[in-house]
Amino acid sequence: MTKILFVVGMARSGSTLLAALLNRVDGFAGLGETHVYWELAGGEERCGCDRSLAECPLWGTLYREQRERGVDFAELQDSFRDFVRPRPSSLLRGLRARRGGLGTDRLGRYLEATESTYMWMAERTESTVLVDSTKLPAAADLTAAMPSADVHLVHLVRDPRAAAQSLARRHQSGGGGRGSLRYLAAVARAALDWTLRNAYAEAKLRRHFARRYLRLRFEDLTREPRETVAGLLEFVGAEPAPEIFVSEDTVELGENHILTGNSVRFQRGPVAVAPAERWRAEMPLHAQALATLLTLPLLAFYRYPLLPRRG
Ligand SMILES: [Zn+2]
Repeated sequence: MTKILFVVGMARSGSTLLAALLNRVDGFAGLGETHVYWELAGGEERCGCDRSLAECPLWGTLYREQRERGVDFAELQDSFRDFVRPRPSSLLRGLRARRGGLGTDRLGRYLEATESTYMWMAERTESTVLVDSTKLPAAADLTAAMPSADVHLVHLVRDPRAAAQSLARRHQSGGGGRGSLRYLAAVARAALDWTLRNAYAEAKLRRHFARRYLRLRFEDLTREPRETVAGLLEFVGAEPAPEIFVSEDTVELGENHILTGNSVRFQRGPVAVAPAERWRAEMPLHAQALATLLTLPLLAFYRYPLLPRRG
């Protein structure tokens, strides 16, 4: 049975790096945000192999085969937007549809198509573990409902101030007072999204997955990449793979077909994994305080330092 290592968590939490690291392990394929495939299939978006998705030998071939089989992409895109997209309403609609019974409706067809995509990928890449970094809690729920998949959930947590700064950065400069308001609104939105996703993962997914649930702090991955990857491999029952590291913190990144995410997927050769702390120097103290305030209970639970500070 194909194992799926599904990464759930907030955007900008380092899931692409995780997928790129694991993609180096024999028998693993880093797929990236597999559920987002339905939105991007056959399009111009760059794959991790630096070709467009239409031209990628993996995703492009899958797309053409699916077209020939008459897969209804328009319906699957609607289903992605209705059931998976990061909105509280999608989550509720997804849950309601699941209670209404799987396999009888549009959601059932979405599940079947996504499951067959995983199976196709496992066969083509000759992998036993697929790494899906979709991150959306609703997607984790749906993937777990697929009968043929043995899903292991990695709940990836990053300091919310870092994730919020990464998302809000583009609003930071220009526009004077109004620009500043836009920036703070983006920080607040990201902090609330962080709280919602992590609370859902803690309250529902952790219980549901039980022994197949693992919480991982991004900061621990970047501080001790070698030990962290070893722990992840043990978690999914895979053999140790010390050979992917050329030194304690340097990994040799190679060819991949990671769908969307951070630009690390385009890097090749030796890459040092290091703490990503640029946000500390960039983020004003009042914005840090705002993000702390909006995430406080979980921030304390995850043992992040609570006081704002500049790097
Ligand atoms: Zn590709």
